Formats: sequence, C-alpha cells, structure tokens
Amino acid sequence: MANSKVTQHTVNEDDKRFFSQEEQEEIAKHHNVETPNIEHPENDEQYTGLQVNAGIEQMPIVNPYMKRRKRKPQLTVNDYVEGILKGNTTVLGQAVTLVESLNHDHQVIAQEVIEKCLPHTGQSRRIGITGVPGAGKSTSIDVFGLHVLQDENAKLAVLAIDPSSERSNGSILGDKTRMEKLSVHPRAFIRPSPSAGSLGGVARKTRETIVLCEAAGYNNIFVETVGVGQSETAVHSMVDFFLLIQLAGTGDELQGIKRGIMEMADGIVINKADGDNIERANLAAAQFRNALHLFPLPPSKWTPEVLCYSGYYEIGITEVWDMIDRYFDHVRKNGYFNRKRSQQEKYWMYETINEQLKSRFYNDPEVERLLQLKQDMVLNNQQSSFVAATDVLNFYYDKIKIKD
Ligand code: GDP
Repeated sequence: MANSKVTQHTVNEDDKRFFSQEEQEEIAKHHNVETPNIEHPENDEQYTGLQVNAGIEQMPIVNPYMKRRKRKPQLTVNDYVEGILKGNTTVLGQAVTLVESLNHDHQVIAQEVIEKCLPHTGQSRRIGITGVPGAGKSTSIDVFGLHVLQDENAKLAVLAIDPSSERSNGSILGDKTRMEKLSVHPRAFIRPSPSAGSLGGVARKTRETIVLCEAAGYNNIFVETVGVGQSETAVHSMVDFFLLIQLAGTGDELQGIKRGIMEMADGIVINKADGDNIERANLAAAQFRNALHLFPLPPSKWTPEVLCYSGYYEIGITEVWDMIDRYFDHVRKNGYFNRKRSQQEKYWMYETINEQLKSRFYNDPEVERLLQLKQDMVLNNQQSSFVAATDVLNFYYDKIKIKD
C-alpha cells in the first residue's frame, strides 16, 4: 500500500537572485528527498472505523458584505460658505467645529469662511442670558425660545460661554436634553460652549460662531453664560440685550450680586415666581428696582426693567418678551443699536490683538524656558519681578526683530 514519492524542488527567482549555482544545487539536494507516501486507511473502501470529517472552508476574517466606508471629502471654503448660506445645519455645525479647532490649518480655513460670511450678518437680535447655576436658565431658554419661534420667519441659535467648561467639559448646554423642546425644533440650532481655551479665546470663538449662525439665517441669537462674574463682560460685548435671571431667596437679594453685573443688565427677571414663592419674588423685584434707581441712566438711555416670571410654569413669558421688543424699538430709534455694535467691533479688534500677542509670546518654546528660569529666580529672591519681566520681554523683542 505504501509507496514513496520524490518532492521536486523547483528553482524559483529568489533562489537565483540570492544564491550561487552551487548553493542552488545544494538546496535542491535537500528538497529532492524521497518521502514515504502514506495512504490513510480510512480512504480504503473496506475501512469501517472512525473517520476524520471533512473540514469546512475557513470564513474570511473581513465580512465580505460590509460596505467600505468612504472617507468624508474635505469641504472647501466655498463649500462651507455655500452650505451655510443655504442654512444647511450639518455644514454649519462642521464650520463651527472648525472655528473651535485649535489646529492651525483649520483656523486658516475658518477665518476665510468667516470673512466670506460677514457680508451676510448683522441682521439678528443678539440676546445674552445669564444667571447663577440653578437660576433656571435652560428651563427659561427653552420657553423663551419657543416663544420667539412662534413667528414662522424666526430661527434661533443658542450658544454658550462657559468659563468653567475647561474643568467640567462644557457644563452648560453640554447636555442638549436640558432644552427638551428647543433641541428638537427644526428652526433651532443649539451649540454647547467650546470646551478648551481661555475665557477670551472661548468668547472669541462664540462671537465667530454668531457670524456663521447669522449667515445661515438665524435671526435670533441667545448667548447663555453662568453668572459667576467673569464671562458677563465677554457676553455683554457681543449682544444687544443683556438679561439677568435672578431668584428670590433670603430677602437680601442684592448682597451676592456685583454692581458691575447689574450695571450691564438691560433687564432683570426674577424666575420661579410661582406657588408660594410669588410674594418673595415680588419683594425681590422691588429691591432690584430700588437699587437700579441709584444707578445713572446708561448710554442706551434705557432704564432697565425688572419683572417676575416662571419659566417652569410658563407664566409671564410674553411680558418678558414684550420688554425685550420695547428695548429693541427704543435703541433702534435712538441710534444706540448701531453705535453699540460699532463699539463692539472695536472691542473685538483689540481683544483679538491681545489674544494673538499673548498666545505668540507664551507659546514660544524659548520664552517658555526662559520664563521658567526667571520664575525660579524671582521665587528665590535672586531677581526682582520687574527685572525678570523686562529680561524676558527684551529677549522676545530681540528674537522677533531678528526674524523680521
Ligand atoms: P440653570 O442651571 O440655570 O440652567 O437652571 P435649570 O433650568 O436647570 O433649572 C434648575 C432647577 O430649577 C430645575 O430643577 C428646574 O426644574 C427648576 N426651575 C426652573 N425654572 C423654574 C420655575 O420657573 N419654577 C420652579 N418652581 N422651578 C423652576
């Protein structure tokens, strides 16, 4: 049954390339050996013992039915601009991501997109909404937003500036479900606060996002911020109307609130004026009105109003919005609306310069090293802070002069 066979070695191209003639013959000698050819007994027709079952064909590792995902084509500046002007929210969202990106190439495209969108902006009402956590901002924005969107021509973008977002990964607006009704409204666009960067940087990105949203036809912009004192100035410098949401509490409502924030407010609204809280809310409103009387008339010549409402029970929403309408009528008539927007442009020009100068200076690796050195010297009383600062600055000035 058992016979033998000789495996013939064929000389392949690799053998020819890497081995000499003699070596090739030696290799062939090793391969051309006789090996016994064993017949498996179960192949015999007479065999009745256990048999090895025929195996199944190995499945390919990759699912052959899976569709290959195409890489998203990179949009050009014109694609972005065209999409935004058509009101395409997917493209708008992508453009906002570009604005928020820290990547230099993304920033270059983003700036071009913004530049091309600029002629299509400026037509919206920009409203800043602030209040301490728990004041009811998101509950209120949800109902205020729906109120605004009753007008079929209205579109609303809700943006946020959150100074704490670096720590909490975007605590405000981070969770879209906080605005349950607005988040599913086809004419609303909700965008959480960019979660990286300094307050100045985050605010600038929010401002650029306003430009994109306006170009996309959003004629109402809400900018939400947590009322903790730093971000209000940034929001104030990009909105037309600044709404401060307050709560009635212990009876001494004015204590915790900074004078600067009250001076910025165009309207103060006391939320949660419902149930047995109505009386306390009215009392708080009276206190705010009294306090506002002591302030000089702002440049808008608009005396801020104080109202009570309930975001949750939707009481007094129309009244709050009537006040805002009155404000816009007032400032459009007396020219303050345009004056304020020009002032804001100037403010943002300087902010951008400050931001860029600082970032170029502090991100220079040599400056970083020198700063560390000088900081240690100052901490060890080896050099005064003034001399150390001057040294670092002079080093930087010299460096950029050489480059220029
Ligand atoms: P935010 O942190 O300022 O955004 O506040 P939220 O909108 O998340 O509201 C904080 C809490 O206050 C939630 O439990 C709301 O249900 C509640 N709340 C908001 N508005 C009202 C209101 O008008 N009346 C009452 N009673 N509760 C409210």
